[in-house]
Amino acid sequence: MNTEVPIIDSALSLQEALMGIVIPPDIRDELTIIDIPYISFDDKLHQGQLVLHVDIADEVQEIFQEILKLRFPIEHAIPMSVYDWDDEKSMRSNNTSVFNYRVVYGTDQVSNHSKGLAIDINTRLNPCTAIDGTLQPANGTYDPSVPGTLTPESPVVKLFADRGWRWLGHRERKDWQHFNKSSAKI
Ligand SMILES: [Zn+2]
Repeated sequence: MNTEVPIIDSALSLQEALMGIVIPPDIRDELTIIDIPYISFDDKLHQGQLVLHVDIADEVQEIFQEILKLRFPIEHAIPMSVYDWDDEKSMRSNNTSVFNYRVVYGTDQVSNHSKGLAIDINTRLNPCTAIDGTLQPANGTYDPSVPGTLTPESPVVKLFADRGWRWLGHRERKDWQHFNKSSAKI
C-alpha cells in the first residue's frame, strides 16, 4: 500500500475539463472525469486526470492501478482543455489523455478520441506517424530502451490487450501512443 501523498498534476471539474470547445450534447452526456495515480519520471507518486466515456471509466481506472504497480512511468495526465485542445502541444509535453474532440489526421472522420474511447500514452516518447511518414509531435522520438516507451513486449500493452483494446503500435503506420476501445464492444 502506497501511503505517499501524491503530487497533483490536475484537479479540474468535468465542466472545466470540457471548456473552450463545442461538443455535441450526445457525446458530452457520456463523458466523465477520473483521477488516476501514477509514478512520473521523478520517481514520485502523482495524480492526474482523464476525461473519457463513462462506460470505460472503471476499466481504465483498473488498468492505471496495474500500471502503478508495474511502476511504468507516466509523465502526466492532464485534460486537453489545458492545452487549448491542441494535440501537438499536448504531445510535445509527453501528455497522456483520452478525450479530444477532433478528426483523424488527414481525414474528415471523427476520431475515437472524440467519443472518449481511445487513449494516448506518453505521447512524446510514443509518437504517431503521419501519413507523410513524419513523426508527431515534432519533438517525438521512439526508442524502445527508454522507460515509458511502449513496445510489443511491454506489460502495459498486455494490460490493454487483455481487456480488448487494440494497440496501434502493431499497425504498419505506427501510432505507438494509441490504444483504441471499439464502441461496438461496450
Ligand atoms: Zn490516439
